[in-house]
Amino acid sequence: MDYSTYLKNYPSKDGRFGKFGGAYLPPQLVPAMEEITEAYLTICHSSQFINELRRIRKEFQGRPTPVYHCEKLSRKIGKCQIYLKREDLNHTGAHKLNHCMGEGLLAKFMGKKRIIAETGAGQHGVALATAAAFFGLECVIYMGEVDVAKQAPNVARMKVLGAKVVSVKDGQRTLKEAVDAAFNDYLENYKDTIYCIGSAVGPHPFPMMVRDFQFVVGEEARAQFQEMMGFLPDVVTACVGGGSNSIGMFLPFINDPVEIVGVEPMGRGEKIGDNAASMTYGSEGIMHGFDSIMLKDENGEPAPVYSIASGLDYPSVGPEHAFLRECGRVKYDVASDKEAIDAFFKLSRYEGIIPALESSHALAYAMRRAKEMDSGSILVNLSGRGDKDLDYVIEKYGYGEDFKDFN
Ligand SMILES: *Cc1c(COP(=O)(O)O)cnc(C)c1O
Repeated sequence: MDYSTYLKNYPSKDGRFGKFGGAYLPPQLVPAMEEITEAYLTICHSSQFINELRRIRKEFQGRPTPVYHCEKLSRKIGKCQIYLKREDLNHTGAHKLNHCMGEGLLAKFMGKKRIIAETGAGQHGVALATAAAFFGLECVIYMGEVDVAKQAPNVARMKVLGAKVVSVKDGQRTLKEAVDAAFNDYLENYKDTIYCIGSAVGPHPFPMMVRDFQFVVGEEARAQFQEMMGFLPDVVTACVGGGSNSIGMFLPFINDPVEIVGVEPMGRGEKIGDNAASMTYGSEGIMHGFDSIMLKDENGEPAPVYSIASGLDYPSVGPEHAFLRECGRVKYDVASDKEAIDAFFKLSRYEGIIPALESSHALAYAMRRAKEMDSGSILVNLSGRGDKDLDYVIEKYGYGEDFKDFN
């Protein structure tokens, strides 16, 4: 395949990446999605929109985020050099704000008054509530009652930012019910509302939009690395939940002689329900409005999933990832809870950077690869900071007293 024209050709007009993607919607929502697609293709390519988004990224988000060389960590491992793209330094501490600000700006340009979303661990809710506050939009976040209780600090953040958090009391009272509730809201209110999806998933045009808004991550990283070193890294890697930080990191390198690897959570092990490694154990299916690779139970329904990193426990993956693997351009590997915790403590101790547990998966993979390579360089997208994970890590692993140093 000729990757120099990749971005022009994918997705197709109907939102396909090969056989993956598309838009599987109830008939009432077809015009709503068409309106968003149409608006996206015109508004978001206007110089007014582009200039405004540029200003926001610089002045509000603090972009560009730096690329950092982990000298001490690399030396401990061997001769291969590990570099980080510091999305943990993006405002609100992760990459999610990149697409939320884009979606918020689009809502504003379209004259919408409300933005809504579901959230599981609350990270997407906080990023969207931040965008809503910035743009002066009304914001409603649907969250399962169980998650509301578990994620008190994020619920507090959303409320302080002015969002309304609706605690969903149906069924298991977690993410799935929150998705249903947000969807029902959207069915009733799509005329003045945009449903902002939290990753590069969902029906067309969301996988394309979220990807384009995250593209800045890899675009900056590629130029920064090139300027620092005079060449490109040998390997580029990122963790994959729904696939937004990774697709933004990967695509700017797609036409380069660079190995690209997405890292999924292996959790506690191989059994269904113990991991969220959709690419490794999943098969093709349709859920949440799009065709992709997904983990299914014996009835063909989305399987229960688990990861120590709540941002990675999604039973499917963005359709573009499914396609890029099929093309053979991107490889997917896994890191377990245990490897992620080890990477979490090592980066904290050797570099003074506490990574998000999600990002720790990508770092764990990079550390494993660095040991095998013994030369060259690996660029890791550090998608977020780990402050949000500290309480959980301390409760389960203490302050790292038992963590094994390099030997
Ligand atoms: C949500 C989240 C992820 C996973 O989402 P993607 O869409 O796969 O990027 C990864 N890292 C952090 C810090 C997150 O908050």
